[in-house]
Amino acid sequence: MTTSKLAGLARPAKKARLFGERVSDGRTMARLVMKFGGTSVADVDCIRNVARHVKREVDAGNQVAVVVSAMAGTTNQLVAWTREASPLHDAREYDTVVSAGEQVTSGLLAIALQDMGVNARSWLGWQVPIRADAAHGAARIDHIDGSVLIERMDDHGQVAVVAGFQGVGPDNRVATFGRGGSDTTAVALAAAIGADRCDIYTDVDGVYTTDPRIVPKAGRMPRISFEEMLEMASLGAKVLQVRSVQTAMVHGVRVFVRSSFADPQSLETPGTDSPVGTLICDEEEIVEQKVVTGIAYSKDEAEISLRRVADKPGVAAAVFMPLAAANINVDMIVQNISEDGSLTDMTFTVPIVDFERAQEVLAGARETVGYQAINGSTDVAKVSIIGVGMRSHAGVAAEAFEALAGRGINIRAITTSEIKISMLIDASYTELAVRTLHSLYGLDEN
Ligand code: ASP
Ligand code: MG
Repeated sequence: MTTSKLAGLARPAKKARLFGERVSDGRTMARLVMKFGGTSVADVDCIRNVARHVKREVDAGNQVAVVVSAMAGTTNQLVAWTREASPLHDAREYDTVVSAGEQVTSGLLAIALQDMGVNARSWLGWQVPIRADAAHGAARIDHIDGSVLIERMDDHGQVAVVAGFQGVGPDNRVATFGRGGSDTTAVALAAAIGADRCDIYTDVDGVYTTDPRIVPKAGRMPRISFEEMLEMASLGAKVLQVRSVQTAMVHGVRVFVRSSFADPQSLETPGTDSPVGTLICDEEEIVEQKVVTGIAYSKDEAEISLRRVADKPGVAAAVFMPLAAANINVDMIVQNISEDGSLTDMTFTVPIVDFERAQEVLAGARETVGYQAINGSTDVAKVSIIGVGMRSHAGVAAEAFEALAGRGINIRAITTSEIKISMLIDASYTELAVRTLHSLYGLDEN
């Protein structure tokens, strides 16, 4: 997304308190974007529950725009149908099909709200409009014109129910934003209408230090910085689409991840503490900072090794240029020191979905690269340690390596950045590695 264009119409995102700062008739009010995921709108009963959440905010005097996903499972079904119709289909028609789920839920929620006496209107991407680029199937938002939505909020207190995941491309056709793209709709809309906060309602009550299904002692983080959340999402945590976190960071949109299954009325009882959830915000807003904040893992990568390639200038380029040309993202790269100064092994990872294609590309480049053999494995997992505190703390990596060694876990590749360390290991050790690291850095609760 191009910052300038989105920000062009947006009022600059303000540093608001969690519960808003506008004061009207002596009451504190806020402008909110509320986003509900697929499990939260799974059927009409669920949609009615969502309507209660929205009504609660409206009754509290807030201005609200809602973004909805398709009913759980719907998008998968739509995607499957496009494949069934033709494995190599036109991406523009894919978008026409897969965007349909959000059209249904936006209309149904508007109906449910009207039924409760709340003034509400549904909006498809092209109606807002949400302008996107031409990359059908994975389009980026260029610009959102929030003026009509704001006008209706100001003049009639009308709630906008916006279909997530979709916009309109330069070709005037529907364009979708990639799986999980409703998160990005919500955050971008929050930036465009100058919302005080973007609430992401989902089936969990926040962001956890790691996957609670693996580590029952994982704890909910009250706050996490944009940068850390970006790493968590990129490295495997499935709570939010990566792009939505990038958008939030660029525009300074505070995002609050919370549960839609909590009772709509008990959430914000006056006089009680803030509701349960995780606030994704600027690092400055986080008082108590740990060295390591979270452990992420992903089984979505595959490892490829090229055996006995020449150890000379130009070889890495000969390997990675054709992969780049084929649009395959290489993540971790390890090149061994050659024993005799002439031949070496090169190991790297690619997304598991591109595993076979990558091997084909490399087979095609065998002449120019000159390797002896290709080995590959999909039985690998990437386990990552994340925390902004690592910037000012030495020895975090060494501790991790030692702890994993103590468990007999072999590390096949490593990458690091200022605030993360990722290690590639055998997939069968994923759970053990995550548990070990989680307790090593003091993240186990109690
Ligand atoms: N319905 C779309 C998907 O499943 C978008 C979303 O839910 O965020 O990917
Ligand atoms: Mg989602």
